Amino acid sequence: MTVTVPSPRGNIIDGFGYAKGLRERITTQVAALKADHGLTPCLVVVIVGEDPASQIYVKNKGETTKAVGMESRTITLPATTSEADLLALVAELNADKAVNGILVQLPLPEHMSSLKVIDAIDPLKDVDGFHIQNVGKLSVGLEAIVPCTPLGSLMLLKDAIKTHGNGSLSGLNAVIVGRSNIVGKPMAQLLLNENCTVTVAHSRTQNLAEVCRSADILVAAVGRPKFIKGDWVKDGAYVIDVGINRIDTADGKSKIVGDVDFDAARERATAITPVPRGVGPMTIACLLNNTLHATRLQHGIAAPQEA
Ligand code: NDP
Repeated sequence: MTVTVPSPRGNIIDGFGYAKGLRERITTQVAALKADHGLTPCLVVVIVGEDPASQIYVKNKGETTKAVGMESRTITLPATTSEADLLALVAELNADKAVNGILVQLPLPEHMSSLKVIDAIDPLKDVDGFHIQNVGKLSVGLEAIVPCTPLGSLMLLKDAIKTHGNGSLSGLNAVIVGRSNIVGKPMAQLLLNENCTVTVAHSRTQNLAEVCRSADILVAAVGRPKFIKGDWVKDGAYVIDVGINRIDTADGKSKIVGDVDFDAARERATAITPVPRGVGPMTIACLLNNTLHATRLQHGIAAPQEA
């Protein structure tokens, strides 16, 4: 199929601004849920160990959760906690009707099985969307709780194609570089559900540059700074850069960059997410969106039309 992509090139997809708008819509809906049903969504984040990066993430999640009017609880366990004790805590949270969302911060200490812990979470409270039931539902097109980063990426992509293109993803060639369970694979499923023709590339893919050049939609989830070069980007493509990489700078400091060589890619792309202020802010906003969604699912409440 020939895809006609209008100029100009180089539009920035403002994930920061989109996430702000999404959080505002969630705030309104949380207030309505309280007024109409007496419910305040409650998200519990469980963190095991003292990993400083995880501590910062969890603190941010807590503050953002409260800011939209939800309840936020953080449970911090020592790194020496046994898997059995963590599973017992998850069972307790599953049974607690006041808890609507459970997120166990990954990575877990090595003596624990993340898969086992995630699968112990009630699928209706699995706001990360990592439970095998949610993964399965997404893959067969049933209503599922969808992992936050791919969900946020899809929202940005749809908005960009609405703003700069003809509004439809149907029939477009999508290439996703990365096949992790939390980003690449669910992203592929979401784009397949949008009727894209999806290719998932990974470390064994041959002729990766050529594969990327076939993409009307290019999603980078590799974890390598500026890995995707400008001349790998098809003229007029939409580029979603999921990567978050910290690199050293000449002045002895450091900065965050994505998986795409942004300046070069921007010259060819119709629209591209920056890093930071692209996909990153969408991840937490989608976590709140999922907590709201989970609360409604648990109580059989339909979402308002515009949600
Ligand atoms: P993983 O490390 O789990 O997966 C990386 C993927 O990239 C793998 O599938 C791997 O292939 C592939 N890959 C690695 N090297 C190459 C290569 N040379 N050529 C082609 N493919 C390659 O990472 P995640 O999916 O968890 O995260 C990806 C990036 O997204 C990271 O930078 C991470 O920090 C960021 N991230 C950002 C989030 C956000 O909120 N914006 C949230 C989550 C992640 P293979 O399977 O063959 O090993």
